[in-house]
Amino acid sequence: MIKVCKFGGTSMADGISVRRVADIVNADPARRFLVVSAPGKRFGQDTKVTDLLYETYEELQVTGKLGAAFTKVCDRFRSLVSELGISFDIGALLHDTEREIYGEPTKDFIASRGEYLAGVVTAELLGAEFINARETVKFTADGKLDPVTYELLSVALQGKKRAVVSGFYGADASGKVKTFSRGGSDITGAVVARAAGADLYENWTDVSGFLACDPRIVDSPAQISALSYQELRELSYMGANVLHSESIFPVREANIPIRIKNTFRPEDEGTDILPVSKYKFGGKTVTGIAGKKNFTVIFMEKSLMNSEIGFTYRVLSVLTKHGISFEHLPSGIDTMSFVIDSEELKGGVLEQLCEEIKELVAPDRMRVHKDIALIAVVGHGMSRNVGTSARLFQAIASAGVNVRMIDQGSSELNIIVGVDNENYERTVSAVYREFFGFKI
Ligand code: ASP
Repeated sequence: MIKVCKFGGTSMADGISVRRVADIVNADPARRFLVVSAPGKRFGQDTKVTDLLYETYEELQVTGKLGAAFTKVCDRFRSLVSELGISFDIGALLHDTEREIYGEPTKDFIASRGEYLAGVVTAELLGAEFINARETVKFTADGKLDPVTYELLSVALQGKKRAVVSGFYGADASGKVKTFSRGGSDITGAVVARAAGADLYENWTDVSGFLACDPRIVDSPAQISALSYQELRELSYMGANVLHSESIFPVREANIPIRIKNTFRPEDEGTDILPVSKYKFGGKTVTGIAGKKNFTVIFMEKSLMNSEIGFTYRVLSVLTKHGISFEHLPSGIDTMSFVIDSEELKGGVLEQLCEEIKELVAPDRMRVHKDIALIAVVGHGMSRNVGTSARLFQAIASAGVNVRMIDQGSSELNIIVGVDNENYERTVSAVYREFFGFKI
């Protein structure tokens, strides 16, 4: 049995939490391979080491020197080592790191040093081997994970009783350090799990798994004990941010289950993320609800749109030209809408886009709805239970909310509902009450 364990920023935040990490790992001999994040926040107002490193990069840009932010990074690691009480020359390692930053002063290299230093220190504490992701995790020229990574990692892990791999980064085709997007150590963990042929990928964090909805909106929502890879992808893409939404791809191909566990409450069961074949639905209709605010819907209507060959293609070519990706594309016979993250449409881009679409395809009508929130109602059970959408829309109507857009994924795994931003919280709690709440 092999378990790969990824420990997030809060688990790595200080000496006490890293000791907990060691206790968790030592409690189970199957926990052979670890992936670590950079130290995160120790308390509410604290700054994550990765954020301090991005500041370090900014300071370096402006002054040409490492300044206050890097000093804070060094202090964090010095106190971590002293709290752990290990005899390890952290000063020398920080000194080397400083020199290396001047040699490779890129944003990605600097940002990656949190995981690098955390990896070296954790390996030292556990008496384990340190595996530098720079040598083992590779990206292709177009920024994708290079499949050679799996061979390199599996060779590096071979025969090791215990090893620590630094999360979040690897090397690009030219050998320079490149990071994943924020929260990317989750992806490294999944990649290591696949390379090791693990039986389980344990993702240790500061919550006891996924909740059925955002606890800032609904008081103590139900805990999700199991969900499928697909459900996870839908929920995490739409804002349930326990796990990086891309981290399922490496493990899914090898059918390796993921278990979310809480470093600070290891006795809690957590949430299992499983291939759909191993997943027991129970009687559940909806597994979870997630959502995000601030989308823009561009709606267009044109008589006989469905028979106008190349209509969609031409509209899409405008988006492509501006490098804009869309989230959803609900369409009817003569209508079509694009749902786009409003962030992408700032600075006059929206106006420009509408102008070019009008010129190219001459729709009869075009409307823009700004400030739209999307709510994803997710669950395999929805396709098996007659009347799910009736219940959903009845609940939203009873809350007095006007639905601006509906999109049902082709897998019948999710229904996406668009409402005005201001109605977001009200809609989420109405939907939650309908599917999870106790009725009197
Ligand atoms: N340290 C990185 C971040 O804060 C990566 C991670 O923790 O997964 O985004």
